[in-house]
Amino acid sequence: MSSNKKKRELISGQKERKRQRKRAADQLAEERSIRQKAAAKRLAPIDRSKITSRSCMPTSPIPTLAGRYYLNWRFKCIDCGKSEIWTSRQQKWWHEEAGGAWEQIAVRCRDCRQKEKARKELARRVHLEGLERKRKEQGRKD
Ligand SMILES: [Zn+2]
Repeated sequence: MSSNKKKRELISGQKERKRQRKRAADQLAEERSIRQKAAAKRLAPIDRSKITSRSCMPTSPIPTLAGRYYLNWRFKCIDCGKSEIWTSRQQKWWHEEAGGAWEQIAVRCRDCRQKEKARKELARRVHLEGLERKRKEQGRKD
């Protein structure tokens, strides 16, 4: 083997090790930056084991921090158009405690959510009362 070839191999080996060290350092810096951002904004960590999804490959419809923290997310209410923030902690509660699927995200502001809940309860009550009335009417006919 010529000494030139050996030199070239030596140099390319050093370059490769330098690249690897840089990659490792970049990864560490990235990791540190993620943790600092999460701490500064008090972001809630995502616990994947508690998340349910309708898809076998769940991807979040809203942004997360590196897929590891819920981000405070600003959205517009679909009913009144008001801008509201769905906080990191609210998202954690919804997905991990209340059982909201990964795809189910906030679309209504707090006020409209309460109105919608009341509307649904009323609709359910009217429906059940209707069924009850029908059942009684059936009973009279029989
Ligand atoms: Zn609203």
